[in-house]
Amino acid sequence: MQIEQVRVDGYEKVVQATDDESGLRAFIAIHDTTLGPALGGMRMWPYDSEQEALGDVLRLSQGMTYKSAIARTGLGGGKSVIIGDPHSDKTEPLLRAMGRFVETLGGLYITAEDVGISEHDLAIVRQETQWVTGLHREQGSSGNPSPYTAYGVFLGIQACMQDAEGHEDLKGRRVALQGLGHVGTRLLEYLQEAGAEVIVADIGTQRVEDVVSQYGVESVAPDAIYDVDCDIFAPCALGAVINDETIPRLKCRIVAGAANNQLLAPEHGDRLLQGGVLYAPDYVINAGGIINVSVELLEGGYREEVALKRIRNIHAALLEIFKMSREQKISTDRAALQVALQRLAEGRQAARQSTPVQP
Ligand code: NAD
Repeated sequence: MQIEQVRVDGYEKVVQATDDESGLRAFIAIHDTTLGPALGGMRMWPYDSEQEALGDVLRLSQGMTYKSAIARTGLGGGKSVIIGDPHSDKTEPLLRAMGRFVETLGGLYITAEDVGISEHDLAIVRQETQWVTGLHREQGSSGNPSPYTAYGVFLGIQACMQDAEGHEDLKGRRVALQGLGHVGTRLLEYLQEAGAEVIVADIGTQRVEDVVSQYGVESVAPDAIYDVDCDIFAPCALGAVINDETIPRLKCRIVAGAANNQLLAPEHGDRLLQGGVLYAPDYVINAGGIINVSVELLEGGYREEVALKRIRNIHAALLEIFKMSREQKISTDRAALQVALQRLAEGRQAARQSTPVQP
């Protein structure tokens, strides 16, 4: 296996692996380890080019740094990507080669599930490296993070209601839910239990049919979800869904969902603020999964009650960010970034103070 360093300003370490024998072509990006080892999922995706894969791993690893800084997981930010189609290119030798690649970093990067990589795949990766989290519960690990992400998003929606309306009661409130995957479906259950009326959309027609018949909800065509008259829009599918084209169509008071990178650009957060729409910054509201995984690394190992207690802090973290946004007249997205950068600055200062000065 050939491993090469890629120099990128603002990143601690970026490495690229090429392994002719298994066909592996992958990147690992370690954005920042000020607050702890870099933890972030392993993604497998049929990128069109190495440049595209590199761009993705850089953006995602930076997001992990901010997410963990705000959630106080004691972790830094990192991510890995494998170039290839997870349906046709994923083989045991390839996953094992990826495990050896992760192992070369000696624990500076710890991996987990992401798009295209399942718990089963990670069990294969684990055969070559100990730096793997999110394996099956039976293996003493923290398991699938999605239900915990959904729980955190639900609590985040309640925090939005609290801030926007002074109470958390979702009874009779209309929620437009985009994406009926692992997180979206569990979130739908929480919302229904709380008495909300949920309108759903997904590009998978069979998925929509199944959910409509199981939960008795209304559905709309994928593109029509932005036009639904509702109190809350919950994006739980893709990134960049808040953009020039969709903002004028939204008829909600709150945007709060699980999807990563919901804003196409920071300016779109400003526009939501100007339009009186409360936006729950994605990397704050969707931190339940990483919080759950981080508990696995604590002394004594994974305990669900510890994870749930920490996930409940998402509510308070959001209220603090909303307050900052109001006081400083900046978008909630910019306020969240300030909090994350402040935590990193504090971490750097603490590290400097504990480092003995060289004579
Ligand atoms: P998933 O792949 O299980 O589900 C995504 C769903 O979105 C699928 O059903 C898919 O058909 C649907 N979808 C895709 N494009 C769509 C479109 N244009 N319109 C409507 N539906 C569309 O993914 P997931 O694990 O549920 O994660 C959902 C989102 O939350 C992703 O953006 C993910 O990055 C983010 N997220 C997930 C976790 C987690 O713990 N799983 C943690 C943090 C963030």
